[in-house]
Amino acid sequence: MPDKVPFLQFRDFVPGVHQQIEEAVVQVLRSGHFILGEEVAHFEKEFGEYLSDGVKVIGVGNGFDALVTALKAAGVGEGAEVIVPSNSYMATVNAVLQVGAKPILAEPDADSYNLTAAGAEKIITARTKAILPVHLYGQTCIMEPLLDLSRKHGIKLIEDAAQAHGALYKGKLAGTFGDAAAFSFYPTKNLGALGDGGAIATSDSGLSEFAEKYRNYGQQQKYVGELVGVNSRLDEIQATALRVKLQYLEQYNAERRRLAKVYLKELKAVGDIILPKSAPNCTHVYHIFCIRTRSRDSLQKWLLEKGIGTGIHYPVPVHLQPAYRFLGYKEGSFPVAEELAKTSLSLPLFPGLKEQEQEQVIRALKEFFQRS
Ligand SMILES: *Cc1c(COP(=O)(O)O)cnc(C)c1O
Repeated sequence: MPDKVPFLQFRDFVPGVHQQIEEAVVQVLRSGHFILGEEVAHFEKEFGEYLSDGVKVIGVGNGFDALVTALKAAGVGEGAEVIVPSNSYMATVNAVLQVGAKPILAEPDADSYNLTAAGAEKIITARTKAILPVHLYGQTCIMEPLLDLSRKHGIKLIEDAAQAHGALYKGKLAGTFGDAAAFSFYPTKNLGALGDGGAIATSDSGLSEFAEKYRNYGQQQKYVGELVGVNSRLDEIQATALRVKLQYLEQYNAERRRLAKVYLKELKAVGDIILPKSAPNCTHVYHIFCIRTRSRDSLQKWLLEKGIGTGIHYPVPVHLQPAYRFLGYKEGSFPVAEELAKTSLSLPLFPGLKEQEQEQVIRALKEFFQRS
């Protein structure tokens, strides 16, 4: 019996990084400074420089708070409508509801699985305050038409870049297109912390100033409450780990792309598998390697029996989740999103996945389709 292949495991890819992180964490412990200190300031500066000249990064507690803060900073609240893809993770829709706005769901593109300008345009109304594209699975949306659309209608563009650290559109990084962007550093993300973490990125100084205060009870200066804020601060331990990992982000993403290339070559014309497509001008960073097949459930079971872990991103689209029934959508409202939920399967792909493990996955997939 071959070894199990995990869907995801944290491995010391680029050997020695784990030790660097341990040492950095020990430094913070010894420093005795744990919240909004030098490590956070350095990380914000370094991640900002990585993204682009003039982009400011504000660390917050998690990706959800980054979305909420970005929406609030952009003035999106009560009475506003925000266009969101119907096939994203629940966090995106939740953030819109959290600021008191109404999520208006859009059908994704059937090839890229992303929100498109054409899809968004159909549902713009006089109340639309923002478009919230999600760069799903590590591939950016086609940003130019979305930017044109937001300018034409005078509405904000907020990017959910939680799955797209390092992804490019026309050579420009995800998170640098809109009025503001939200990143998550949840451990499994392409740039992941040792716990929760998130950040807002924006080149608008009004928005960054708002975010800086909002995350810390409205204070810029201690005990001066300039606005009604919350507590959503990035802590020093997360920031120090992120600083180490940021240096290797490009290497991690290159490895993800290399592994994806192997799957793309080996799984071509296997059964009815639909492989992920790279959209024009997009550099995919494969946060998720999502294949599609009509036999999804039986394939997942087959792989599990062979010791291979997989994931489903996501099994139930937002509009069919019990919590969001009040939005008024029903089965059939978004046929593409519903089809994706029924057929998508995410394969193991992470920095440190071994050649022999990937071969095991490929072999098992081929066997499944030869047999059926
Ligand atoms: C992970 C994720 C979030 C939320 O991030 P958290 O840090 O878990 O709060 C938001 N949007 C998308 C698309 C995500 O994948």
